[in-house]
Amino acid sequence: MNYSGWKNYHAHIDKGFLIPPRKYVDAPAPKRAEWTRKAKKEMTIFEIKESATKALEKMYLYGTTYVRTHVDIDPLFELRALEALLELKEEWKDRLVLDLIAFNQEGFDRFPETEYMLKEALEMGVSGIGGHTSMDNKGKEHIDKIMNLAEEYDVDWIEFHTDETGRVDDFHLPYLAQVTKERELKDKVSAIHCCSLTNVDDKIAQETIEAVAESGMTVTTCPTAIATRSLTRVKDLAKAGVTIQLGSDNLRDFFNPLGSGNMLQYAQLLAYVSRFYEADELEQLLMWISRTPNNQRVQSELTKVTLDLQYDCKSFSELIAEAPAPAPLKIEVVK
Ligand SMILES: [Zn+2]
Repeated sequence: MNYSGWKNYHAHIDKGFLIPPRKYVDAPAPKRAEWTRKAKKEMTIFEIKESATKALEKMYLYGTTYVRTHVDIDPLFELRALEALLELKEEWKDRLVLDLIAFNQEGFDRFPETEYMLKEALEMGVSGIGGHTSMDNKGKEHIDKIMNLAEEYDVDWIEFHTDETGRVDDFHLPYLAQVTKERELKDKVSAIHCCSLTNVDDKIAQETIEAVAESGMTVTTCPTAIATRSLTRVKDLAKAGVTIQLGSDNLRDFFNPLGSGNMLQYAQLLAYVSRFYEADELEQLLMWISRTPNNQRVQSELTKVTLDLQYDCKSFSELIAEAPAPAPLKIEVVK
């Protein structure tokens, strides 16, 4: 079997590979968020680059040619993570396409100045902007602010960590679908996680799924999130015609001390959790991690980094069951 390169639609390589040197302790989430904030304050551009390089090396060894990563923009990281990743994007451009999303991880309530910092980031050459619907008291206002910035700077991607708490009273996906439709942004918009969709009533879920499909937005699921929250209703979304994308999410940090960067392994985890066991379902999973984004710039950049991934597997199920590395790829690290 051969493929031309896997696509990782959601990662956080700016704050990955913190462990080691830092140590993972399975403390409550707010504590681990506090440790992450501390690390963000401490990390130099050099350290961010070094950690992010480890993540990209793993992803590339497993045959990934497209990585869309969020980059935190806030008074903790300031613009250091973005500066580091912009350098990496250039250094890696002959091997993979790295799309950077300027991300408001911490919320406008905690750090109002983030709005101005995001503007600076948008001037520096990112491909998209990212928000977090559960981070501020008023989720709708958060969405509007991010959407306004996205349109002002005409970015390729507008992404939201959506309803990550999984709580039914924290359910902004219907509003996101509505705004996406009104602004005709279609598949520029991605909703990541969508945990609450799993926990609302079936009738509300179905209506929301139809609205998401009608808006044309995509949904990104990150199977490792199962460690702390529900995955979304992936099969129902796909059945309604919603484009599904997969991401590694965090790798080796205070939220996920594991994380291989191997897209086949993430597909395998989703197969287990959501029971993608039939041959056509397994084929669908492989399609989701190999499909190119609907964007001419990305498609043209991807033609320059196409791989010829060779696997000694006879079926889709064997490929996902074993999640092997492809025949070795050569890595030249640019200094
Ligand atoms: Zn994320």
